[in-house]
Amino acid sequence: MSNQNRKGRLVIISGFSGVGKGTLVKQLTGQFDHYALSVSMTTRAPRDKEVHGVDYYYVTKEEFEKTIEKGGFYEYANYEGCYYGTPRAFIDESRAEGKDVILEIEVQGAMQFKKKFPETFLIFVATKSAAEMERRLTGRGTEDFDKITGRLKAAIGEAEQMPHYDCVVINDDLQTCVDQTNRIILGEETGPAYDPVFKEQFVEGLKEIVARRTAERI
Ligand code: 5GP
Repeated sequence: MSNQNRKGRLVIISGFSGVGKGTLVKQLTGQFDHYALSVSMTTRAPRDKEVHGVDYYYVTKEEFEKTIEKGGFYEYANYEGCYYGTPRAFIDESRAEGKDVILEIEVQGAMQFKKKFPETFLIFVATKSAAEMERRLTGRGTEDFDKITGRLKAAIGEAEQMPHYDCVVINDDLQTCVDQTNRIILGEETGPAYDPVFKEQFVEGLKEIVARRTAERI
């Protein structure tokens, strides 16, 4: 479906930690050939099974800061103590090839990117509840107790950015979410709009969970 005469669409996928954004974007790029996935640079250590150049470019803080100085990023952010940034070159090349470029980035970076490229389409991915988010983060087993609490806490702030997104999709059944997201990106379906009641309930749920986990720690 790639088209040499068409400049590719820019799509950002953000969402709460543990919601399955990584799996969602891998399925989109694996199942449909019109996508190019931007690989970010990070100072976070690789998780088990993550591969340099595929999941991220893993670099030191010094290398990351050098790339900032050279103007090598379209955006970057500090998330939970680590740097994450979007390298420029890949995006420019992929768009020129007519690919729809997907960036899986957090909310601060998404807002910076949207300012540079106002045509960017923003998709927020959530779980159906805060309790489900905690279950997935715990089940993933890649972060320890305090890191998980930190990510749940960070989600309270992230939720405030939801109104800036073009739509909010719930990743309950993965394939349903993949198909829905693909149709939304292709413009075949209008995605579900931001719902303030859902957001409020989610944030309340997060606050209760964070309070419970903090009390458990004492
Ligand atoms: P994780 O450590 O779970 O892979 O990612 C943590 C957060 O950083 C996620 O919300 C992810 O979407 C975000 N992220 C990944 N790459 C980038 C990037 O290049 N820029 C920004 N701003 N956020 C990123």
